[in-house]
Amino acid sequence: MLSRFLILALLTCFVQAVEVRDSRAKMGSPFEITVLAESEAEARHLIEAAFAEIDRLEAMISSWQPQSQTSAINRAAGGDGVVVSQELFNLIRRSLKISQLTDGAFDITFAGVGNLWDLSSGRLPNPMKVKQALALVDYHAVELNPKTREVRLSRPGVRIGFGAIGKGYAANRAIVKIRELGGKSALVNAGGDMVATGVRENGRPWSILIADPRAPDRVFAELALTEQAVVTSGDYERFMIVDGKRYSHIINPKTGYPVDSLQSATVICPDGELADGLATSIFVMGPVAGMDLINRLPRVECILVDAQGRIHYSHNIQSQLIVKENSP
Ligand code: AMP
Ligand code: MG
Repeated sequence: MLSRFLILALLTCFVQAVEVRDSRAKMGSPFEITVLAESEAEARHLIEAAFAEIDRLEAMISSWQPQSQTSAINRAAGGDGVVVSQELFNLIRRSLKISQLTDGAFDITFAGVGNLWDLSSGRLPNPMKVKQALALVDYHAVELNPKTREVRLSRPGVRIGFGAIGKGYAANRAIVKIRELGGKSALVNAGGDMVATGVRENGRPWSILIADPRAPDRVFAELALTEQAVVTSGDYERFMIVDGKRYSHIINPKTGYPVDSLQSATVICPDGELADGLATSIFVMGPVAGMDLINRLPRVECILVDAQGRIHYSHNIQSQLIVKENSP
């Protein structure tokens, strides 16, 4: 009896875990999910469930899909409030909290002016129009009624968009889904927003390489992720160059123009949504105010590459870094 038990125990120890990875385009970006499971079939089942969850969220938050709740809110701007799901209501409430925390550097109403910036055109928008559109960018124009779950945009033309936080939320939810279904180890890459759970084979943590924004082949830091998220906002993925100057997709809500005081802002914290929201915020706030904010937040760290290519690390990042160099 004992020997049979021993053999079973030994066999269980030697069950090989398989790592399965799948990539799909979601939310306008490449998403990749890696799962470690006892069989390929189980891993694929978990990956399918995670992608289904991401599809569900995209249908809720997309401002491009006319049937989404978010589009309904935008269409009703200046008129009546729209009753939304508790989930969307809570996401909007958390987004407004990040606006308060960052003194408006993060603003889901950025779209009022963001829409004027067509980075594929290679042309700058009319400065007068940018100035006028700034009247539409103000997170205070988002009114929430928790009793009725109504969201109302107080002025016509105000629009909300989750480009700066939706992928982080989706990555969080994908991990939750995998966990709910019994998965123990996974890495979700939601268009560059990384959230990890569990460990890889041999107990090694998932790890993430941080690249030089001006030479993506050049890695300057490696981070070990244990129940953590790593999110980078940068000026190197979506941008245009006009008269030698780079204009990226992250807009300062106070000026209506793309910000240029950082090349990249990487935020590390236990929550993908918060990391996403803060990475965009810090990108807008710049190296001094941005670093100051991160150093005041518990369990939140960052790596910033400033406009001159210098790297700045937050105070307590050492515990997470595997490799660190002084300049990219
Ligand atoms: P991320 O890559 O997470 O930094 O998000 C950038 C995206 O967020 C942009 O492509 C816009 O859709 C949106 N966005 C740009 N500026 C802001 C801002 N100041 N606050 C909130 N969202 C923004
Ligand atoms: Mg973001």
